[in-house]
Amino acid sequence: MGGNTDSYTDIENDTIGAIASPMGTGGIAIVRLSGGQSISIADKMVKLRKGTSVKSMGSWSVALGDILDTGTDGIVDEGLVLVMKGPRSYTGEDVVEIQCHGGVLVAEKVLNIAFRLGARAAMPGEFTKRAFLNGRITLDEAEAVLDVITSASEVSLAQAGRRLKGELGAMVEKWEALIIDVLALIQGSIDFPENIESEHGRLQDLLAGLSGEIGSVLERAPLGLALSGGVEVCLVGRPNVGKSSLFNALLSRERAIVTDIPGTTRDVLGERTEWYGLPVVLLDTAGLRQTKEVVEAMGVERAKSAAQESNVILYVLDDTEGVLEEDREWLKRWQERHCLAVITKDDLGEKQVDIDELENISHGNYVRVSSVTGTGIESLKKKVQGMFTSLGDPEVLAPGSARQVDCLERAWGWINEALDNLRQGWTDDVVVLSLEQAARALMELTGKHVSEETLNRIFSRFCVGK
Ligand code: GDP
Repeated sequence: MGGNTDSYTDIENDTIGAIASPMGTGGIAIVRLSGGQSISIADKMVKLRKGTSVKSMGSWSVALGDILDTGTDGIVDEGLVLVMKGPRSYTGEDVVEIQCHGGVLVAEKVLNIAFRLGARAAMPGEFTKRAFLNGRITLDEAEAVLDVITSASEVSLAQAGRRLKGELGAMVEKWEALIIDVLALIQGSIDFPENIESEHGRLQDLLAGLSGEIGSVLERAPLGLALSGGVEVCLVGRPNVGKSSLFNALLSRERAIVTDIPGTTRDVLGERTEWYGLPVVLLDTAGLRQTKEVVEAMGVERAKSAAQESNVILYVLDDTEGVLEEDREWLKRWQERHCLAVITKDDLGEKQVDIDELENISHGNYVRVSSVTGTGIESLKKKVQGMFTSLGDPEVLAPGSARQVDCLERAWGWINEALDNLRQGWTDDVVVLSLEQAARALMELTGKHVSEETLNRIFSRFCVGK
């Protein structure tokens, strides 16, 4: 593993500190320090019960002590001190974790003492960024850290865990090594032009194999992205057809306001949930209708763009009203999307929706539900889950971020370009250029080549203390 960058070599060596446990009251809180001064800062602020000093503690050891308020000489709390010396620590630097009682005030007091002794507040994701800059983890592994933290389903967690262990990075590094081998072969054929014909055949086979392997990982990208970010499922339809009731029924709780008054839902409401292993971000939206009322009109616009950007559209139809002209228009507009028509109010038995017509316009993608009795709710969830598992086997490793997909797409594109050039008999230097670009795109994925801007974008999504 190696996570150093071209452009970002100025690893800051000041000592950072943050509360690494969630804000709020709990059993314990963890104050984390990393950097050259972390052990000496902890040494000044903790008096070990056994009479020895933090400075004399070995790496990966723990001791109980009193946390001293350096300002007043009083004792703020008692806690455990964990020392993990660099380079065998999370960040690669000296790391000290102080476990104190889990109150917001006490943890903040402990952190402030560390600040007074010379530590500075860590930026979001700065511990993990240091781990990357110090070569402890690759960039795809750093992204996987965030995926593990935010995983909302078993399958997402399993995928993120495998990326965290470096499975994706190892695969990418294998491809990178193969490209380097191919470049060496080309170099050889330039030096010995009499072998050029036979070598070109071999190169084409190698590159075709590589293109196939990267291509098949790319095919799993939609599933990987859905698993790590959550599949956005958007409820849309005319006012009063039962969207908010369905939203609540799908979440099994009263989250949205339900009334007979059209136009109650104004903004887009979003909630995370899980359907048969699929992480879902469920969205409720304002009813689609023409309106002169300014706030409602804004809500309608937001509803349209939420539907447009979501992974799945649940188009809600009211069984007491049937399919109206505007329903036909919306369903037609979204027929190329993952769109499922949902007939609500099944319990009322009115059966106004013409099923033959709906079969036709929804291409058989419809389900009947009642938000009152719960009929059809589970089969709706299973249908949506089925749409995504049909994208690929969730057990097979997939890329987990749009950035990773972009790097793979570029590498795949350059490899195919090199392959085309070889087939068309272009000179080897043109092929070399394409392959160098492919290798570079793969190195960007693991972080061997990466800009500071990309790093900042990735790590700003982390919480402080990670
Ligand atoms: P929205 O405007 O599309 O969000 O619709 P609401 O969820 O607010 O529902 C409008 C009205 O239809 C309310 O009076 C709900 O109680 C009623 N309703 C919604 N779903 C059902 C259902 O499945 N069965 C019955 N009987 N009534 C429903």
